[in-house]
Amino acid sequence: MKVIKGIYLLLGSNLEDRDENLQQARENIVQQVGGIICTSGIYETEAWGVLDQPLFYNQVVQIDTALGHEALLHVLQGIEQKIGKVKVGKWRERLIDIDLLYYGNRIVRTPTLTVPHPEIQNRRFTLAPLVELIPDDLHPVLFQSHQKLLATTPDTLEVWKVK
Ligand code: ADP
Ligand code: MG
Repeated sequence: MKVIKGIYLLLGSNLEDRDENLQQARENIVQQVGGIICTSGIYETEAWGVLDQPLFYNQVVQIDTALGHEALLHVLQGIEQKIGKVKVGKWRERLIDIDLLYYGNRIVRTPTLTVPHPEIQNRRFTLAPLVELIPDDLHPVLFQSHQKLLATTPDTLEVWKVK
């Protein structure tokens, strides 16, 4: 059991070439945010919230950045716009979604940013890749490891590691 030290993002795509969209996101992150320290595998996942849409690809990446949490969110939103996020509605299909999961052990609650991301414990597609990278690290609000959170999540949606 240990505290989270890194900064972790969740990438998601369920439109067009999902591999290509994730790759473009990673390239833009390296160019605009800083380095990528490590990546989880890619998981194919059922859509959460709104079910009649294509399957997602999801991946967690650990990044290195000099940006603070607000500036980081802003740059990530710029990357989403650049790759072409389609605004259809909350939880609906999109070319790319980039969520900030953790900024180390930091706890942030503002109108535009909640860190840790408030849905981590409710989404198997987030917990499975986190277990791959940091199984024993403790969620700084819930004080439980990712292994434990995955074992006890109420989420029943399937996830498959595809690569
Ligand atoms: P969702 O990811 O919930 O499907 P969006 O990607 O459209 O929806 O994000 C909606 C809003 O969530 C953003 O405008 C952003 O300000 C806010 N938000 C709050 N906390 C976070 C976070 N940790 N990571 C990303 N966005 C966040
Ligand atoms: Mg988002």
